[in-house]
Amino acid sequence: MKLPLDLHEYLGGPNLIPTTPHPITGEKVPLILGHEFSGVVEEVGQGVDDMKTGDRVIVQPIIYDGTCGACKEGLINCCYSGGFVGISGTIFRRQRDHLLQTNSQQ
Ligand SMILES: [Zn+2]
Repeated sequence: MKLPLDLHEYLGGPNLIPTTPHPITGEKVPLILGHEFSGVVEEVGQGVDDMKTGDRVIVQPIIYDGTCGACKEGLINCCYSGGFVGISGTIFRRQRDHLLQTNSQQ
C-alpha cells in the first residue's frame, strides 16, 4: 500500500490525486500539491469579528459537497465525493461560492 503523502504523490503518483476531473473541484493532474499551509492575519475587513490582526490561521482542507448523506449528517470528512485541498485540487473558489450560496439561503 502506498502512503497517502504529498511526497509519495510527487515521486510515485498519482495515488490519490485525480487523474480524471474530481467530482467537486473539477481538477485533475497536473495540480499544485500541498495542504499544510498556515499564515498570520495581516488585516481584517469590516464586519469580521471572529479574527483579528496577528491571529495565526490554518486552512480547513476538507473538500465536501454539502449535499450527500454524510454531509447532511455533519460528517463532511466522510463526504461521498470529498477530497482534500492540495490533493484533490484547489477548491477555494468553488467552496467559497458554495458557502456564500448556503449562507444566503439561511
Ligand atoms: Zn458530501
